[in-house]
Order: sequence, then C-alpha cells, then structure tokens
Amino acid sequence: MTLTPDQVRARWAGLRAHDLPTHGGRTLAYVYDSGRPEVDAVAREAMAEFAATNGLDPTAFGSLAVMEHEVVSFVADLLDAPAGFAGSVTSGGTESCLLAVLAARDARPDLIRPQIIAPTTVHAAFHKAAHLFGLDLHLVDVDPVTFRADPPAMVAALTERTVLVVVSAPSYAHGVVDPVAPIAGEAAARGIRCHVDACIGGFVLPFLDGPAASAPEWSFAVPGVTSISADLHKYGYAPKGASVLVHRSNALRHSQFWATADWPGYGVVNSTLQSTKSGGPLAAAWSTVQLLGRDGYAALATAARQAALTVAREAAHIPGVRLLAPPDSTLVALAADGSCDVYTVCDELLARGWFAQPQLPFDGGEASLHLSLSAATASVLPEFLEALRDAVRAGIAAGPVRLDPALVQLLGSLDPASLDEQAVTGLLAAAGLSGGEDGIRLPSRMAQVNALLAACPVPLREALLVAVVERL
Ligand SMILES: *Cc1c(COP(=O)(O)O)cnc(C)c1O
Repeated sequence: MTLTPDQVRARWAGLRAHDLPTHGGRTLAYVYDSGRPEVDAVAREAMAEFAATNGLDPTAFGSLAVMEHEVVSFVADLLDAPAGFAGSVTSGGTESCLLAVLAARDARPDLIRPQIIAPTTVHAAFHKAAHLFGLDLHLVDVDPVTFRADPPAMVAALTERTVLVVVSAPSYAHGVVDPVAPIAGEAAARGIRCHVDACIGGFVLPFLDGPAASAPEWSFAVPGVTSISADLHKYGYAPKGASVLVHRSNALRHSQFWATADWPGYGVVNSTLQSTKSGGPLAAAWSTVQLLGRDGYAALATAARQAALTVAREAAHIPGVRLLAPPDSTLVALAADGSCDVYTVCDELLARGWFAQPQLPFDGGEASLHLSLSAATASVLPEFLEALRDAVRAGIAAGPVRLDPALVQLLGSLDPASLDEQAVTGLLAAAGLSGGEDGIRLPSRMAQVNALLAACPVPLREALLVAVVERL
C-alpha cells in the first residue's frame, strides 16, 4: 500500500512529534539556530534544488566545484589561511577530522604504526579515526584546573612515529581553547603536522575580540598549524551535512585524495570518504554563506558569545551548580555540587521545554551539563535562565540519584566482553530500560540511566550504549 503525498506529509508531522525542536533556541546541543528564518528558507530550497546532483565527479557537476571552491575560500579567509591553502567541503565535523588524520597517515607510508598525539579532551572523532585507519591515539592529560592541553606534556609525548598532533578550538566538553602556539611550534620543528579542531569554534572565534576574547591564538596565523576543521552545520548555521577542512598548502592536502583506475568502471577520484554524494548540503551551505557573509556571522557570533557569557555569569549565582571552566567561545559546561545531579537537572529542563546535554564523568572528573548557545537562544535567554534556576531547584529537591551500592560494585567488576544478551538485558532493566520483543522505549526521565552509565567503567558504558541503540 502506498501513501498519497498529503499522507506522507502527515506522517512527517507524526514522526517528528517527539523529536527535539530544531529551531527556536530551546535545544542547546545538536542543533544551531541563527534565528534568521529567511536564511533557512533559501538554504532548504538549495538543498532541494541540488538534492539529486552528484559530487562524485566535479567535471560532470561543475556547479558543485564552483560552490565548493567559494565556500572553502570564505572559510579559509576566516581562519587566516595564507595564499596557497587548499581545502574540501565534507559531510560533517567527523569526516573533516577523519580526513585530517588520513592525510597525515598517508603522507608517511614509511611508518608501520603511525601515531596521533592529542589531549584527553579531544573530540571522539579522533578516537574513531584511530580506530578506522589503524593509528595509535596517545592521549595526554590536560591541565586539571583550566582543562586546556598541557604544552610541555604534549611535546614530551611526540615520538618518531607521530604523524599528527591535535588541539581544539574549543574543546566540545569544556569549551576552552588549547594553547595552540607552543604545541604547533614544537610539532613543526619536528616535521609533524598539527591539526586544530575548530569544528565548533571556527565560525565564532574569528569574530571575538576586545573583552569578548579570552582564547589563545589558534588560527593559521599560528606558525606550525597545518590544517583546521570548521563545521558549516554548527555555527556556520547551514543545514546538516556540511563542514570544511582547510590545509595550509595544496601539498599537505595531496595525501587526502584517493584514486583508483584498477577496476573496469569509471575512474574514481575521491577528495572525501564518500564517493557519490548529494550536492544538496554543499549548495545549502553555499547559500547560507552568501546570505550571511562575514558581517552576518560576526553579528551571530557576538550574540551567541554574549549569551554564553551571561549564562556563565548567572550560573555563578545559582546554588547547586557551578561553571566547569570560563567559556572561551559559546559552549558552557556546568557541574553540580553534592546537592543534586546534573542528570536530574537535564530531565527537569526537558520537562520545561529546554534540552541540555548530560556529560558523564570522565577520567576522574565530574559529570556536567553541556550547553551550546546559539544566536536564537540569545533572544530567549531570560526564559532559559529562569528555567535553569527552576530546574536546579527541582534537582536539589529530588536529591542526587541513588543507585543500589551492590549494583554499583557489580558494574565495576563486569567485563563487557563476557556479557551475554541476557545479562545486557538485565542491566538495561536495572537502569529502567526494559521492553518487549520489539525493543525498548526510552523513559521520559533519563537520570537513572545516566547515573547507571556513570557508574560503569568506560568499556562497559560503550557496550551498554550500543546495546540501547541496537534495541531502539
Ligand atoms: C561536533 C564536533 C566534531 C564532530 O562533528 P560532527 O559534525 O558531529 O561529525 C568534532 N570536533 C568538535 C570539537 C566538535 O564540536
């Protein structure tokens, strides 16, 4: 049985009824709203107009080659790239990071076991890159107070096998910019590439100056920085599916390309991981960039930055929570004191129509609540702050999540490799995640689930996360 077009549209509405809102500024992770509906409308038109084009072959769809060149040039300029830069539009931040790693690896075919050096705060995308491409990821502790990378420790970790050192501008979990200059400088002296992961800061930090700027230098203006990633689908305010990776030179990008003529079909040249790829996200991002321009981005960055500074300032006056680190950009992380749990605060915010992202305790640190402030949130900030105060009050009234101490002890001793289906299902049930044959449904309150995950060692957390998503 097929549906009519109107029935299909009606299903969209039904399917999306329980999704987080993508616009309106009340979702403080995953989505980024410029608050400029006229810009979004054109971007959506572009997405549709170019949906069926194929970026596989830029000679067949020259429009895409032109738009890619123009978007990369715009972003390279924001990042202070010198003449001779080369870049690519990718499908997202993870793909940009993967390609920075791939290019660094393939520039050193002489190494048997190439290695990445990064601070523990580096984005998960680099864990994924090491996993997929067979590199060792050596993580270096960050400063325990500032959460910034520790330059002497990073430099001391460099070896003959290091092909890439990575720093963040800013880090996702703490929102602080690493001290790029001393690390990039030492890497360059040893002939090692340095990638700055500005996936979430690349469209914000270039516009912060004067009293708004607190971050160390991080762009191509810093000697030794060889590549930078910046996500169009975050603070570039473009629809999902677009990011930029810029290399300082064409020579550095060269090893990012992959080609084969060793099969009976068309000659394959890939600048990214995908082969056939829709021109839709690129065209939508190009359109967004044209409509906003430097001035538009400057205004949006300033609004989001002011919102982040206001949240940081106000949070200091909310009993029960405190700022993890002064924000360098537009990301704020709040930790709870012993009176409540951030997981409960997240649930309470959601009940009031606001989404904040829980971050589990890591490496001896504390759990926190992540907020990515976007321009649209700036216009509803008083309401958000009211909801936050209320949610923390409710969190304190509920008290910290309590787990059975025997269960916590059990979790600490479990080896995820030895768990069978039944054991996993039992653990999920202990977290309040049970269901029938057709999988589980997430409860409306996730505090219990998050508290249980927090009590698990990292490998068990990973196994349970997979188990949950498999059963959804
Ligand atoms: C979001 C992000 C990424 C990964 O980007 P995706 O678009 O989610 O794939 C990488 N690094 C940082 C710092 C990020 O914030």
